[in-house]
Amino acid sequence: MAEIISGKVISAAVKERIAAEVAELKAKGVTPGLAVIIVGTDPASQVYVGSKERTCIELGMYSEKYELPESTTNEELLALVERLNKDDKIHGILCQLPLPRHLDEKAVIDAIDPKKDVDAFHVQNVGKIMIGDYDFLPCTPAGIMEMLKFSNIDPQGKHCVVIGRSNIVGKPMAMLMLHANATVTICHSKTQNLKELCREADILVAAVGRAKFVTADMVKEGAVVIDVGMNRDENGKLCGDVDYQNVEPLCSAITPVPGGVGPMTIAMLMQNTLTSAKRCLK
Ligand code: NAP
Repeated sequence: MAEIISGKVISAAVKERIAAEVAELKAKGVTPGLAVIIVGTDPASQVYVGSKERTCIELGMYSEKYELPESTTNEELLALVERLNKDDKIHGILCQLPLPRHLDEKAVIDAIDPKKDVDAFHVQNVGKIMIGDYDFLPCTPAGIMEMLKFSNIDPQGKHCVVIGRSNIVGKPMAMLMLHANATVTICHSKTQNLKELCREADILVAAVGRAKFVTADMVKEGAVVIDVGMNRDENGKLCGDVDYQNVEPLCSAITPVPGGVGPMTIAMLMQNTLTSAKRCLK
């Protein structure tokens, strides 16, 4: 039986520590503040944004939510970001992606002050992560590293295979594993022999976005399997990228979906907002 790495349990511990630090910071006159921007009515984005706002409040932070209509222009969105960049109450700015097609995601990411870029998507923060000298880590990969640490799984010397090379998950995940001294393979849709490569993984991270993509014949016995995917199965039920039922018996440890990586992502967003706010004391 695999150890189930519970994002619910680990994120609760992380959030408890953050709440205590927020209280200390407030006593010194600084309340960490997060502004979340959402454009349009995508239901999944609405759920994520709601959950970020609730967690902020739960941890004693200040939260502002901007729900903009689908018809918002680039100029209007950039003007809001500019205003938030200058707002001393706000230490973190997050623009929920994806944006409606007519909006320029790159321009918005570039416009966020790197010191308030709690998603760590700004090119300046991406570069800092590359050289291992960073202020913020992107929330999902950072959450995964926290889960491994909490579960006493040390990537050093292990072969980590990451499926997916997005800027949000796959690439930074590979970089963090490299910083943790793992030997890293990054796979993508053009990778040949994907199954064989995955079977070599001591730690397999699936960030593909396809339900039950990782099957039992892709997993080495005793591997650690991290499932980043958030998909809907044929019955509309939330599921990951891993065929959990058949893969779990093979693993030494595995993250479930739901209750795995997802809750950690939000906890790390709160961590980044706290880190940003702490700079006000210096
Ligand atoms: P993405 O931008 O769509 O990237 C998917 C990656 O998977 C791409 O690099 C793609 O390769 C690769 N891929 C697609 N089909 C493949 C195949 N047949 N074989 C090998 N690789 C393949 O997605 P993302 O933003 O990284 O997100 C991935 C998943 O994680 C999604 O389900 C998303 O909802 C979920 N997610 C969860 C959280 C969380 O907090 N739990 C956070 C972020 C994302 P190419 O580059 O060659 O196209």
